[in-house]
Amino acid sequence: MRLGCQMPLASGQCDCGKELDSDGYHLITCKTGGGPVISHNNMVLAWSDCLSQLQLHHVKEPRGRYVNSEDRSDIVVFDSASGVDLELDIALAHPWSNELEGLSATTQRAAATRRENLKIKKYDQELLPGGFRPTFVPIVFKHFGCWGEKAEDYLKKLSQLSRDKDGKPNASTFKTYWRSVFSVCLQRSNARVIDRKIKKIVSRDSNININSCT
Ligand SMILES: [Zn+2]
Repeated sequence: MRLGCQMPLASGQCDCGKELDSDGYHLITCKTGGGPVISHNNMVLAWSDCLSQLQLHHVKEPRGRYVNSEDRSDIVVFDSASGVDLELDIALAHPWSNELEGLSATTQRAAATRRENLKIKKYDQELLPGGFRPTFVPIVFKHFGCWGEKAEDYLKKLSQLSRDKDGKPNASTFKTYWRSVFSVCLQRSNARVIDRKIKKIVSRDSNININSCT
């Protein structure tokens, strides 16, 4: 999927009623059966691991944080540089989304930027106790691997806190390692989502021939 190869098994109808496409677009983006949620939750865990490596205190999905809504950001982490909590919201975006109207073909990370802006707009409405506005960081990954600009900036910022076992700064090693972890986590999660959905569809619909890919 990451290489844009066709998936011969991806034909027939999804449980939501829509037709599947052999590019796997529907399989990876349809929420029926928990698709994107599985990938999203795995990415939240990976980010939590990253923050833990730096011994940064953080809380996942805190309830009742905002006085004017029931929304929960994925992770709240204290930022010692600014002295405030940062609200991290992790999102996945697909470059083929109809909402982009072909923008992905001409603009780098268009899907990620669009999702960042939507998230910023949403969190701009939130209020903390005392009427304070939260400091929000959208962490967006495109399904084919590209990152949103804000996510890139945040990883860079975190990398500057990293030290090797001798206490020397090792920002470059930190960034390379965690970029790989997040990338593999997303692709493994996507593969798991596709595998799970295909198996369910195959067991439901005998018109799909599972042997076609062997
Ligand atoms: Zn569907």
